[in-house]
Amino acid sequence: MKPFIEKARLEEIIKEIPTPFHIYDERGIRENFRKFKQAFSWNKGFKEYFAVKATPNPSIMRILLEEGAGFDCASYTELLMANDVLKSFAFDGSPGEKLSPTVSTKSASGGSPGEKLSPTVSTKSASGGSPLMFSSNVTPDEDFLLAAQIGAIINLDDFTHIEVLDRLCGIPETISCRYNPGGEFKTDESGNVMDIPKDAKYGFTHEQLIEGYRVLKAKGAKKFGVHSFLASNTLTNDYYPALAKIMFKLAVELKEKTGISLSFINLSGGVGVAYRPEQKPNDIKLIGEGVKAVFEEILVPAGMGDVSIFTELGRFITAPYGALVATALREKHIYKEYIGLDACAANLMRPAIYGAYHHISVMGKENEPHDYKYDITGGLCENNDKFAIDRMLPKIELGDIIYIHDTGAHGFSMGYNYNGKLRSAEVLLCEDGSHKLIRRAETPDDYFATLRY
Ligand SMILES: *Cc1c(COP(=O)(O)O)cnc(C)c1O
Repeated sequence: MKPFIEKARLEEIIKEIPTPFHIYDERGIRENFRKFKQAFSWNKGFKEYFAVKATPNPSIMRILLEEGAGFDCASYTELLMANDVLKSFAFDGSPGEKLSPTVSTKSASGGSPGEKLSPTVSTKSASGGSPLMFSSNVTPDEDFLLAAQIGAIINLDDFTHIEVLDRLCGIPETISCRYNPGGEFKTDESGNVMDIPKDAKYGFTHEQLIEGYRVLKAKGAKKFGVHSFLASNTLTNDYYPALAKIMFKLAVELKEKTGISLSFINLSGGVGVAYRPEQKPNDIKLIGEGVKAVFEEILVPAGMGDVSIFTELGRFITAPYGALVATALREKHIYKEYIGLDACAANLMRPAIYGAYHHISVMGKENEPHDYKYDITGGLCENNDKFAIDRMLPKIELGDIIYIHDTGAHGFSMGYNYNGKLRSAEVLLCEDGSHKLIRRAETPDDYFATLRY
């Protein structure tokens, strides 16, 4: 696995922006997104709603918007951010779908959630939908209201939310429901269990879903979608096709039982990336073809060939195109060999909470023998604050630049402030080779800003 930036270039950036920071590769993000879009271009209404939680930075979101993505939000703040990005895009008069900006989210955040906001964007874009999806759960009233006001497609997580939304602001014309089929989820080919939906907190049961669409229709909804997210970080080209099969059959059943013809089917997130060098990355072209085959097998014969496919990928879109850059700060020789970094789990939580593997390169030593065994740690007073355990690496000198791969999704965004550790900066490596600070590092003042004493 190779870093997407050369050591000399990284050293230049570090002179200006001290480590630790996350750096993102604009070129990689754009190229990958184009391949992904191409793989689903057979579907006329296809749209990716980038899962904002993966990389909630307007500069990254702006790149994805330029490539044709919308945004999937799950909270009030994510809605505000996505709406701001849409507005900046519309004001700059960039090419793409015509968007008509209206709402200032600044006032929305300051004002009461009930204040009247008109939709940011025309809901009659090319794909016939909104550029915003709202797939939340345990949704507070003000989140529902904001989503409705800015014209996001609301994807209800539960049957009881129908009543809540109706009471708050009425059922919008376009509405989506999240499906939880229960049981265990297996792919067709291998039969391996990928995840256990019956243990997941999300979505309607099958019965609730059928009844839910009946109720929504009676309450005046006109366009319907369905959403499901059954497994995370899958490393098989079968996940989306297997999920699509379940969803497409469900769409046919819904039509028979309720008379509702779905406008879109949202396959959500879950297409994973190869974090380990020995893993085989997903082939997005094959995944697109796999979904197409099921589409032609099930939906087309049922007269539903005009259904739009939506996705809400996060990890697949940005994970490989981000890295956490840190410096080797301290060494320790006790029962094991340790290298301590100026970054810690507060900057990248995945190894600590999931035991997740992130590949590590010692910049400039990629081709040296990997004959030293280290634990690479941060400085939290938590023994799980380890980026790697028993990792074979080249001999590390203090001051070496440590490059932790694949942090572009669910990396910075899962950060926290334990031990008073501060969130890092984020840097964009632009397509033309220049770089941009797209988020400054936190300072102690930021940490103290919310305290009252
Ligand atoms: C987290 C999430 C996603 C994105 O998941 P990835 O694994 O990053 O692709 C999409 N939709 C919803 C509702 C999510 O919660």
